[in-house]
Amino acid sequence: MYKIAVIPGDGIGTEVIDSGVEVLKALSKSVQNLPIEFHQFDWGAEYFKKHGVMMPDEGVEELKSFNSIYFGSAGVPEIPDHITLWGLRLKICQGLDQYANLRPVRLLPGIISPLKNIEEKDIDWSFIRENSEGEYSGIGGRSHRGYSHDTAMDVTLFTKQGVERIQRFAFEIARSRPRKLLTLVTKSNAQRHGMVMWDEIFDEISQDYRDVNTDKMLVDAMTTRMVLDPKSIDTVVASNLHADILTDLAASLSGSMGIAPTGNLDPEKRHPSMFEPIHGSAFDIMGKGIANPIGSYWSAVMMLENLGELKAAQKLMSAIEKLTSDKKYLPKDLGGKSTTKQITKVMIDIISGKNSK
Ligand code: ATP
Repeated sequence: MYKIAVIPGDGIGTEVIDSGVEVLKALSKSVQNLPIEFHQFDWGAEYFKKHGVMMPDEGVEELKSFNSIYFGSAGVPEIPDHITLWGLRLKICQGLDQYANLRPVRLLPGIISPLKNIEEKDIDWSFIRENSEGEYSGIGGRSHRGYSHDTAMDVTLFTKQGVERIQRFAFEIARSRPRKLLTLVTKSNAQRHGMVMWDEIFDEISQDYRDVNTDKMLVDAMTTRMVLDPKSIDTVVASNLHADILTDLAASLSGSMGIAPTGNLDPEKRHPSMFEPIHGSAFDIMGKGIANPIGSYWSAVMMLENLGELKAAQKLMSAIEKLTSDKKYLPKDLGGKSTTKQITKVMIDIISGKNSK
């Protein structure tokens, strides 16, 4: 029995995760030996309004007894973003040392990219985001508030251990993919300490992965390459902030922010990993019932792969591809008219064989 902790959170996070759980329940019924028990947590902005914190202090400890965590998003307009982000998602990722954030990006069948003259095979990327330190170290401070010399400082922290482990993880992913090409993205011309260390460690580690081809890009140039020469890209490793930005672009180039999944992984499997769509609460569409749930389905695929349930993962991915290639039931952000509920039903029908033609 797999025990999954479900944390829908806020905004459209709740809408897409509810949908994902329904689809996973249908999958669990249609695949042999896939018993799943879901345990819902009400952590997030509503919890904050009642208790003054996004999740209880002992919450991270509690999550350790689960096989996996299925997460939506955190944030509502009336609470500052840094409180909701640090109080929930980052508290879990950092508390469980989920240091590798894996973000696959593909142009799914039937989906139209905003890029011109592009084919499905031209966007097939794997982004690896450092997920435990860097620009998200949380180190810094603020003083003299209210005066003209109000001062604020955020420290970007890179440790040799942190950089090495994420780069080794990225080399392993690159090695497992057919093209075996890894691009290191930095800004080592301007950030002349930490990012230069990223370059040096990359050169060192690449000696252990001579079968993997490598190149290096500055982050600004990488945005151009993603738009102008997408097929030249395979696997990419970057810092916490750089990869955050690049993967929003990547998601949009593959059709919409609503499609992209992510896994916050503990590659050593000391603790459960956490899976979520990459988008946030999307204040502009929350409560309207039109959120695209594909990112939450694809995140569930990653979760099943991580649990070693490869057949079930494949079945769910095929259902997603059937949904997108049919084009009849697409959400608004992908040019369709279907609501989250309608798409959920279609997915359940596909999985349970009712939709097969
Ligand atoms: P965060 O900083 O929390 O990651 P964000 O600033 O990146 O959030 P999002 O809420 O992720 O912003 O998404 C930006 C916009 O993309 C939304 O306002 C919404 O219009 C669109 N969008 C994101 N996800 C979806 C989705 N699942 N379905 C439809 N539209 C979406």
